[in-house]
Amino acid sequence: MTLDTIAQAAYLVAALLFILALAGLSKHETAKTGNGFGIAGMVVALAATIALAVHRDISTLGVVLLVVAMVLGAAVGLQRARVVQMTGMPELIALLHSFVGLAAVLVGWNGYLEVEAHPEGAEARTLAALGLGGIHSAEVFVGVFIGAVTFTGSIVAFLKLSARINSKPLMLPGKNFLNLGALAVFVALTVWFVIDPRLWLLVVVTAVALALGWHLVASIGGGDMPVVVSMLNSYSGWAAAASGFLLENNLLIVTGALVGSSGAYLSYIMCKAMNRSFISVIAGGFGLENTAAGSDVDYGEHKEITADGAAELLADASSVIITPGYGMAVAQAQHGVAELTRRLRDRGVEVRFGIHPVAGRLPGHMNVLLAEAKVPYDIVLEMDEINDDFADTDVVLVIGANDTVNPAAAEDPGSPIAGMPVLRVWEARNVVVFKRSMSSGYAGVQNPLFFRDNSAMLFGDAKERVEDLLRALPAPSTAGAGARAGN
Ligand code: NDP
Repeated sequence: MTLDTIAQAAYLVAALLFILALAGLSKHETAKTGNGFGIAGMVVALAATIALAVHRDISTLGVVLLVVAMVLGAAVGLQRARVVQMTGMPELIALLHSFVGLAAVLVGWNGYLEVEAHPEGAEARTLAALGLGGIHSAEVFVGVFIGAVTFTGSIVAFLKLSARINSKPLMLPGKNFLNLGALAVFVALTVWFVIDPRLWLLVVVTAVALALGWHLVASIGGGDMPVVVSMLNSYSGWAAAASGFLLENNLLIVTGALVGSSGAYLSYIMCKAMNRSFISVIAGGFGLENTAAGSDVDYGEHKEITADGAAELLADASSVIITPGYGMAVAQAQHGVAELTRRLRDRGVEVRFGIHPVAGRLPGHMNVLLAEAKVPYDIVLEMDEINDDFADTDVVLVIGANDTVNPAAAEDPGSPIAGMPVLRVWEARNVVVFKRSMSSGYAGVQNPLFFRDNSAMLFGDAKERVEDLLRALPAPSTAGAGARAGN
């Protein structure tokens, strides 16, 4: 058996391990095992690729460069993974997608320099003899285009998610026209390049794609960023698949297609959950017009409440729903919230959690934090499971959430988040909002909930305020607790 055959067999094993990884990652309970399959698949893939490269034609310098690049990359990756906060995950993921995009651009350019720019070279002559020269040129062009869109798109996503630039959508005049125009230019230039592979054509398509990626993501507003992250995940997969064709690496094609299609499907599911048009989001806010942010509207005065006042409300309540958001993650208030839950349940209060699909900064963010703080799974409910119960609830504690509980999404068709499903917390008898100020949430939209008659603001860091609440709400006597066992 030749090394080539062994490597192809290893690729097949790695591809299967990646499929098992995806299957595992689709459920909480199996996610860790799924991750294990993914790591194993990557080890097999790397070992086979390196063995193949060394066996074929790589020079000693090439091997040294490969080892240095891998050691450096692994060191930086391990360090970043060790220190990253949960709240920083989406921006890290966005940054990593930009590397995939950049790699695809470099692979494409390298392909051009080796083949099209060297018509007398060995590879160009082989491709010409097989009649595959045009296909190679198309692969170069498509790979560079997708890679460059992914590269700049991911950088803008990184800048927006890390609040280095404003998350508001960029509304250039005729923006849809610009996007469609860039696509039309790409198609026309591809045809030209296949017929006559000139360097300047590659330069132009790289520049157009870099600008398109930037514009596509800049045009998408803060509220739609979760979808953008999974959409860029999808683009990075297609960019990797394009590189796979160029490098004649079957595993890269399969892996790229897996990432590309699963990212696209996740974007689709998220769009449905947020009542957004999939086409509109992937086309950079296609069809979205400039909407009033509602920040100029005068909603009246807000009320404030102290931790003691909130404790009184809770002492009289028989049902409580807690809706956490990004602020709970920032404050790391989940342990206090879990203790509050235990204390209220010991008092006989029915306590449940309402989790919005995009609460926090990545899907499942709140579930992970609550699980870490040992809140029982069975009282943590999805938005659709709990939304009808707010009207029968005595007290809702909104802990560091804002956009996900904004009534404007349901009631104001002019709002930038109009139509996005939200937790209908305002239907409860009392709502206590934990946040530090009256400032808006990630989507940059004012929240009329804060000004409703049944709402009161409990200002300050969520962790500190929850601790104040715990001090104001003493644990019940053991006798009382015993009477309510089983709650
Ligand atoms: P929001 O970003 O809407 O609101 C969070 C609130 O938390 C802020 O208004 C802030 O108010 C408050 N806050 C911040 N720090 C603290 C603190 N230490 N203590 C108390 N409060 C604090 O969060 P939501 O979870 O409600 O909504 C998620 C938003 O993020 C949506 O717009 C969603 O589209 C977007 N998004 C979601 C992603 C996902 O995949 N889930 C990815 C990217 C974006 P203040 O400053 O006044 O304290």
